[in-house]
Parts: sequence; structure tokens; C-alpha cells
Amino acid sequence: MDLISQIKKIESKISSKILFNEKLSNYSWFNVGGPGKVFFTPRNLNELSIFLKNIKNFDNIKILGVGSNTLVRDGGFSGIIIRLGKTFAHTSILGNDRIIAGGSVLDKSLSNFAMQNSLSGFEFLSCIPGTIGGGIRMNSGCYGEDISKILISVQVMDFNGKVHIIYSSDIKFNYRDCNLEDNLIFISATFQGVKKDKAEIKKKIDYLVEKKKKDQPSKIKTCGSTFKNPKNNKAWKLIRDSGCAGMKFGEAHISEKHCNFFVNEGNAKSSDLENLIKVVKKKVLEKTGINLELEIKIIGENFEE
Ligand SMILES: Cc1cc2nc3c(=O)[nH]c(=O)nc-3n(C[C@H](O)[C@H](O)[C@H](O)COP(=O)(O)OP(=O)(O)OC[C@H]3O[C@@H](n4cnc5c(N)ncnc54)[C@H](O)[C@@H]3O)c2cc1C
Repeated sequence: MDLISQIKKIESKISSKILFNEKLSNYSWFNVGGPGKVFFTPRNLNELSIFLKNIKNFDNIKILGVGSNTLVRDGGFSGIIIRLGKTFAHTSILGNDRIIAGGSVLDKSLSNFAMQNSLSGFEFLSCIPGTIGGGIRMNSGCYGEDISKILISVQVMDFNGKVHIIYSSDIKFNYRDCNLEDNLIFISATFQGVKKDKAEIKKKIDYLVEKKKKDQPSKIKTCGSTFKNPKNNKAWKLIRDSGCAGMKFGEAHISEKHCNFFVNEGNAKSSDLENLIKVVKKKVLEKTGINLELEIKIIGENFEE
């Protein structure tokens, strides 16, 4: 049975929203990209499990947070996009100093929730515009902190609809990466905080947010750092020193303020951004011998005319 026929059958079993040919540009910070063939927002865990159990012989599935690290190609995505909605945006306190947060909780909201409960360790999350799910996948972080340092465990659902708990100690976290398999949906996570004075936590958050505003551009269509920083080096410096500052491809530009931020200046196509990425990668390799590795994720197919 083809994908759409399978989905039509599932639709009669659940009440969650399933959209067809949904514009994915609305779900990526770059604001580019074609449609997603099937776009599923599960109403709850049970419906997510029913959905996955009923999909047969199909593994072209991608999970999306708020798309602050994802470039969608112009041809869209011919599989299933799963995006956790509001029902997965819960936060609660466990015991005295732990927090359980759903996979779609915004990093900023978790930081705020921790502050309200006098728990420190989450301040850096105020500077990251993604979700907890995206944060775990990317091991997101800044200013010397990252998710791996506060994560105790993550509750996941595999593509067979089964739930597992994975402890942080069993996950290998690297810089902007972890070894959890791509066929796992992070539905919630437990974090460890440290009790501290609320005013002190707020002071740190305000300081970091202000610092971030000074260091990086804001209110633009970007996915943040395009490339990972190579060991003992900075991607933005390598890009600048290779003569790529201010480079453009169509309406895809390199930010004036931060060379590693690529920006859709208006109506860029995904292919403009990808071409800019390719040119910069080549120039940096030629000039410095360093092969930059992408931090952003690219999904979907090229547009065929
Ligand atoms: C202005 C700006 C500043 C930024 N600054 C920083 C920074 O300081 N530090 C930093 O680390 N990053 C930064 N980023 C990048 C980005 O915000 C982070 O990578 C963030 O964690 C991505 O979260 P997301 O929900 O947007 O993920 P998405 O872009 O939606 O997805 C990213 C990856 O996570 C996976 N994923 C998302 N949700 C789930 C889930 N529930 N289960 C399983 N997999 C999932 C996706 O499949 C994909 O592989 C910045 C981005 C912008 C736009």
C-alpha cells in the first residue's frame, strides 16, 4: 500500500492533525523550502504510537522541532514529518532539584521555568531558540555549557511506536552532536538543576542574553551557525580569513555581523543558501586546508523543473 493510502487508513483511527503538502518554509527559521508530503502533529503519546505502528515498510520519516537548525530543500520532503505540538510542551518539577520537560518545550521556556523554581544550570538555554528535542539531538549549547551537562535521561519513542528510557550516561555526546539514532523521537527529558537564589539566576540569564545580542545578529531569517567550529578554531574566523565575508548568492547572504550566520535576506531559495554553503566550504578548504563540517541539518529533495 502506498504512503497516502496508509495515512488515509490511520486517519480513521486517530484524531491528531495530519496535513498533506504542508509548506515547510513555515517551519524553518530560514523560511525556505518546498512542501512536506505528510505532516503529522500527534495529539498525544498514544496517537503517536498508533500512527507509527500503522506505518508499514516506510522509514522516510523526519522529526522537526521549531526548525531553528534545519534547512529544507526547494523540492520539499517526500516522506513524513513529525512535529511534536503543544501537548508535548509540559514542564514539571521532580523532587527538589529535577525538571521533566516535554520534547517540544522551548529552550527559553525551560530556562524560565527553572529560574521560577530557583534551579540553576539552565541559564544558557535562554540564548538558544530551539526546543528540548532539537537541543538533545544537537547537544546545543553556548558559553561553555551544553545540554549534556544537565541531562539525566531522555524518554524516546522509536519508529515502531515503542517507548524507551535512555540514560545520559549511556549517550555519547559530542560537540553539537550525539550518537542517539535518527529513528528516535525525544518525547520528554529529565534534567538536573542546582538550587540557587532566583535573583542570581535571573542576573545570569540577563547577562547571557545581552552578551548574545552583542555577539550575534538577531531578528533575521537564519539557522544560527552554519558550520561547526573545528577543533581549536572558529568557523567564522576561517570564513572571514578566506575572503568570504559579505558573500552573496541570490538573496542568500553571509551576515555582516557574524560570518558563520547565513541569512535569507528576503526571497532566497534553499538552493541559494546551499550554493553559498558549497562555495564557502570550497574557499575555506582551498585557503586553509580545513574541511568545514555542517552544523545545520539539510532535509528534502532538490527542486526539479
Ligand atoms: C539565531 C540563532 C541562534 C542560535 N544559537 C545557537 C547557540 O548558541 N547554540 C546552539 O547550540 N545552537 C544555536 N542555534 C541553533 C538551534 O537553535 C539549535 O540547534 C536548536 O537546538 C535546534 O532546535 P530545533 O527545535 O529548532 O531543532 P530543528 O532545527 O527542528 O531540528 C534539529 C535536529 O533535531 C532533531 N529533532 C528536533 N526535535 C526532535 C525530537 N523531539 N526528537 C528527535 N529529534 C528531534 C531534528 O530531526 C534535527 O535533526 C541557533 C539558531 C538560531 C536561529
